[in-house]
Amino acid sequence: MIATCSCGAVELQAFGKPIVRSVCYCADCQKGAHEIEALPGAPAVSDPDGGTGYMLYRKDRIDYAKGAELLRSHKLKPTSPTNRMVATCCNSAVLVNFDRGPHWISAYTARFQGDLPPLECRVCTKSRPEGVVLPDDVPNYRTYSLGLILKLLASRAAMLLGR
Ligand SMILES: [Zn+2]
Ligand SMILES: [Zn+2]
Repeated sequence: MIATCSCGAVELQAFGKPIVRSVCYCADCQKGAHEIEALPGAPAVSDPDGGTGYMLYRKDRIDYAKGAELLRSHKLKPTSPTNRMVATCCNSAVLVNFDRGPHWISAYTARFQGDLPPLECRVCTKSRPEGVVLPDDVPNYRTYSLGLILKLLASRAAMLLGR
């Protein structure tokens, strides 16, 4: 799978299936999306219903093929360990990573081209904008789902075992 910024100067290659494809409605993702979308020329980050789509990949399954030097961290607070990485060429939100901790990155689904793997769940739906009614095509979790956490742990174990 290939993800690019809207002008094409930044390109990520993701190998294999994502750990999970989900949509997050938490307050931080909504705030991050609004702040980045307010930058000049920025393409949409979140969906019209307030959700932000992500494909989670192990760090070792992501290759920064082009333009890595154009990525800049957008933090909601200076002390936050969470980096929303924005392509400075065209203000596209490309991925979320962390100063420390997690072994995965969350790439913004909006930046991927071609056939996407199916959506698996929506998380943090209790924070969705008032009045938004979600379809029930996939599980909608009010906070984070246990299944998602188990998948992340399993992917960590597989990575440590070199698989
Ligand atoms: Zn760009
Ligand atoms: Zn979120």
